[in-house]
Amino acid sequence: MPAPPDIPLPDGCALAGGAAGPEALRPLLDIVLTALADGAADREGPLPPGGPAPVARRLRSAVPPGLPAAGTGAGEALRTLVRALAAGAADPADPQCVAHLHCPPLAVAAAADLAVSVLNQSLDSWEQAPAAATLETDTAAGLAALVYPDLPQPDALLTTGGTESNQLALLLARERARAAGARGVQVVRGQAGHHSVQRAAWLLGLPAPITLATPAGVLDPVDVHSALGALRGTPALLAVTAGTTDTGAVDPLPALAEAAAAHGAELHVDAAYGGPLLFSARHRALLDGLQSAASVTVDLHKLGWQPVAAGLLAVPDATALRPLHHRADYLNAADDTEAGLPDLLGRSLRTTRRPDVLKIAVTLRALGRDGLGALVDRVCDQARRLADRVDRHPGLTLHAPPAISTVLFRPHDADDARVAAIRRALLTAGTAVLGRSHADGRLWLKATLLNPHTPDAALDALLDHVTRAARATPEGPDR
Ligand SMILES: *Cc1c(COP(=O)(O)O)cnc(C)c1O
Repeated sequence: MPAPPDIPLPDGCALAGGAAGPEALRPLLDIVLTALADGAADREGPLPPGGPAPVARRLRSAVPPGLPAAGTGAGEALRTLVRALAAGAADPADPQCVAHLHCPPLAVAAAADLAVSVLNQSLDSWEQAPAAATLETDTAAGLAALVYPDLPQPDALLTTGGTESNQLALLLARERARAAGARGVQVVRGQAGHHSVQRAAWLLGLPAPITLATPAGVLDPVDVHSALGALRGTPALLAVTAGTTDTGAVDPLPALAEAAAAHGAELHVDAAYGGPLLFSARHRALLDGLQSAASVTVDLHKLGWQPVAAGLLAVPDATALRPLHHRADYLNAADDTEAGLPDLLGRSLRTTRRPDVLKIAVTLRALGRDGLGALVDRVCDQARRLADRVDRHPGLTLHAPPAISTVLFRPHDADDARVAAIRRALLTAGTAVLGRSHADGRLWLKATLLNPHTPDAALDALLDHVTRAARATPEGPDR
């Protein structure tokens, strides 16, 4: 029988890796960079104008739904899709894009992320990521030492973000409680804490968390004392927040750590937002008390300027991670581990896993801890300057001086429905992207400042956008 003919390689199937990869990539990267610039120019502002239906229509006119049978080749596909996505993107690098804890990534970190995709290492076994495994171990230990500077062997897991970190924190707490003979652990949290803590308790089959009211925006240690006291020795995990998503408030960590200790409860600190304050000599003291936590969540894709995903769960000692140990013969056979192959499977619940650590390590080397601290200081200062402007503004009310880099404000004569309508009007126009938060029983506009390049003129422009939208947004029920 004659050998069947070779199936021809289709266009656009060059590989990214290997010796020839970089030369195959170079012209494609050029196309991507041009398409990013063109797409941003098409958009003109922080958000594409028109709201959901026009944005979807424009995207579909460039990229019809459905899977094409025949390809257009790499250049055309990149040019069309990257431009369309950029034209329809929310751009956190635009100073008017301040809705969420959604940071503009540093160019140096994005460039490192490209290398991660090209090398495509996978941290589920040493033979898929030999050097990356060491870089992750070392960088994680360095970051853990930032959280627990006085302990001999702190460690950290790299995660996809605060949600996964909080889940792992509750899982580890549950396993500690089980090891001590209990059935589970009772989570006690504040109303202002992150919703992912409740979901984690649900996912892990724990009792529904006890949620304490936080009328002042932070947990009251007196309330915590009585809630923990009422549990009478049931294993408890007090989950507190350093930088709430809604206002950036930091729970009083030393007093809460004391309350937990007094009742034999463990402490978890969700510092997804506030954790990187540790890089700043000026702001570090806001996190005093962190060291008594059994686990600490930190996100570097918020204050940290990393592309998603860059999360961290720090623990005071590497042994705290033992419950995650897991054996899969094809990845970490016992004899391979005995022969000295590092066992990576216990550093995550995921299997295939990107070395997100590369962009973090590159950023730390490029800027140093002090450089990151300077970026933190800059956005905290901007928030104070924005708050001052709001405070001096005749038509606006400031909620409170910012704790980190979040500023809540509202037109002083607007009711909640009008505040919500103003936010939507700005989104639809594509001129400013603000968030919303409830505090003190009212709805506020929320600006989360995360762009260290934002000039003061952009802060003025943001308030101008709001006051102009307020004038154009009618009172009354028919909006
Ligand atoms: C953002 C945030 C989270 C969730 O983190 P993701 O990275 O979005 O998963 C958890 N806790 C707090 C306080 C947050 O601000």
